Amino acid sequence: MTSITQNEVQADRCGNPPSSMFIGGTWTAAAGGETMESIDPSNGLAWTRVPAADGTDVDRAVASATEAMAGEWGATPGPRRAHLLNRLADLVDRDADRLAAIETRDNGKLIRETRPVMGQVSAWLRYYAGAADKLAGQTLPTGDPNYLVYTTREPVGVVAAIVPFNSPVMITTMKVAPALAAGCAVVVKTADQTPTSTLLLAELVEEAGFPPGAFNVLTGPGATVGDALARHPGVAKVSFTGSTAVGTHVMKAAAEHVAPVTLELGGKSPNIVFADADLDAAINGVVGGIFASTGQMCIAGGRLLVQEEIHDELVERLRVRAASIRLGDPQDPASEMGPLVSEAQLEKVLALVASGVAEGATLVTGGKRAAPAAVPDGYFVEPTIFAGVQPDMQLAREEVFGPVLAVVPFRDEEHAIELGNDTVFGLAGGVWTKDVQRAHRMARRLRCGVVWINCYRNTSPHVPFGGMQQSGFGRENGPDAILDYTQVKSVWLELSGATRDPLTVPRG
Ligand code: NAD
Repeated sequence: MTSITQNEVQADRCGNPPSSMFIGGTWTAAAGGETMESIDPSNGLAWTRVPAADGTDVDRAVASATEAMAGEWGATPGPRRAHLLNRLADLVDRDADRLAAIETRDNGKLIRETRPVMGQVSAWLRYYAGAADKLAGQTLPTGDPNYLVYTTREPVGVVAAIVPFNSPVMITTMKVAPALAAGCAVVVKTADQTPTSTLLLAELVEEAGFPPGAFNVLTGPGATVGDALARHPGVAKVSFTGSTAVGTHVMKAAAEHVAPVTLELGGKSPNIVFADADLDAAINGVVGGIFASTGQMCIAGGRLLVQEEIHDELVERLRVRAASIRLGDPQDPASEMGPLVSEAQLEKVLALVASGVAEGATLVTGGKRAAPAAVPDGYFVEPTIFAGVQPDMQLAREEVFGPVLAVVPFRDEEHAIELGNDTVFGLAGGVWTKDVQRAHRMARRLRCGVVWINCYRNTSPHVPFGGMQQSGFGRENGPDAILDYTQVKSVWLELSGATRDPLTVPRG
């Protein structure tokens, strides 16, 4: 491991990155004094160091959040919460360049991707700011005039937000914006590889003026800190985004204290191209769906289902396009594909490529580690396409989380549905066709949480997002997501003042 000093020059572009955790409104080291490095995936060098929290820090963070709920934050009314979220949105817009530079440094995602993403984060904050003062109960007509019955919506309590490495600030915001709008206090656990951009978000939360303890950030290993947080009895809800394997574990941990969970998990989404599609548009959608973010997207269209008539033409055009993608320094706006997040991820992707070769799929292009001239030591892999992938091959079934496309031919609509739904996942699907009736039939029959027709990868704060089957449950975004951070209380008030027979059933 090379020292941080050798890497200092590039760190300048990110300013002085935050390197403490944010607990109870103060910046703090880990209780045990341990730290851990964040590695820049474009060169394999440590570029900054953050606290490695332990169970004591988890206790501190949950206690701070609990105190905030019982104190100033819990007493903060909806319009004031809305004001704070709008103020945070302004600050995120102000510092979007720095947030993007830091996130690119942590996870290697291209600056041409992180910068527009940071420009959109404020839209989520403003959307849920708009909801913060509109949470209302109901007055219920039970039929008995002797009772006034109404409901209130209360914040669920302390929320644990456990997030993955691939888009830390945006994914954190998808959880934190509705949770704070609802009046919950939040403890964020950053991904092991990507602590720093979320710490910068915490600086902005502090500057916005949120009361201490409303928003806390823990950095540290998932297996210890994430686990301790998910099973902490002070946590009232766990909102998790990550792999299906860890999500299953988190669900069991939360079950120990009967905390509800929202799980946004992995996928193996089909991108389905019919012979009548606009092929130029489809190729763009397929390329963006698997090579953007170096394929490290939960919604990656990793399975390309192509109607037989256009199979050879489409594969050839994709081969040419994939081979022309410029790999390079993710901080360089001219680069078109960055590195994978870590050496471990690189090894996993190369192992899945080897499995494709071993199982008899045809390697059309790519498949090897790459070494771009400017950043030869980064965790780069070539944009890779396999044709002739059979539905039972590992490449057709497992999430790669890398730039590897598995092409599977289909005969007709029925066959496309059969192949498209032949997965344990159910996050997303793409359909490319000019036949509007077929488009809607496909949307109805694909078993997944989002279907894009003649587009791919669109998200918005207005539109619910989430998976079916082993891609998880619960929905983020959209008007109802805030309700997941509330609970309903029913209140019965006797109006007549009459004394009743205690041994009969009271009616409403
Ligand atoms: P991961 O499951 O390895 O880690 C996710 C988070 O869980 C991290 O913060 C990690 O530190 C923590 N963690 C690890 N072990 C834990 C444990 N035992 N208990 C509690 N927490 C623990 O996922 P990743 O590699 O960071 O991200 C990639 C995965 O995330 C992919 O499977 C991808 O599909 C998924 N993802 C899903 C969505 C979605 O919205 N559905 C979005 C982005 C990523």
